[in-house]
Amino acid sequence: MALCPECETDLDLDEEEIEEGEIVSCPECGTDFEIVTKHPLELNPVDELDEDDDEDDEDEEEEESDY
Ligand SMILES: [Zn+2]
Repeated sequence: MALCPECETDLDLDEEEIEEGEIVSCPECGTDFEIVTKHPLELNPVDELDEDDDEDDEDEEEEESDY
């Protein structure tokens, strides 16, 4: 069981379904956390310092010129 460091909501993370380096969001306060380690479970708040405002899964794919 993992508690949100910000609001102590149970994040309900399943160790089987998470991976180190993955980003999880607290459903309660919306804070994003990076999973640093699974044993013990350690979460690192992700600062929104990225230049990308929205990180869409399928942004525009980078156009790769085949030739
Ligand atoms: Zn929270």
